[in-house]
Amino acid sequence: MAIAKSSWNTHDFVVKMLDWSSLRGSRLAYTCRRCGRKFCHFSLSREAWAIDADGRALDTAVSDRWLAEDCFRLFNIGDDDDRKHLSKAANKSFDR
Ligand SMILES: [Zn+2]
Repeated sequence: MAIAKSSWNTHDFVVKMLDWSSLRGSRLAYTCRRCGRKFCHFSLSREAWAIDADGRALDTAVSDRWLAEDCFRLFNIGDDDDRKHLSKAANKSFDR
């Protein structure tokens, strides 16, 4: 899902660069100071996805929902369950 959605701007993100690829640019981790949700995207792409505390991609269904929702402005208990649903396909390609 692209990150042009306005819900992206409701979060208060701290941005950290994880690594760099010549094709896709910097891989950036976005951590919201208020709700604790983390997202990742490449600087040269508009695709974004949700990640867990260790930077692993979450399942597409969880990722799409998180991207569509506005910031809760506080920690959401249900997010811990969401973080158990990792995306197997995406994490395979990010293995180093
Ligand atoms: Zn947030």
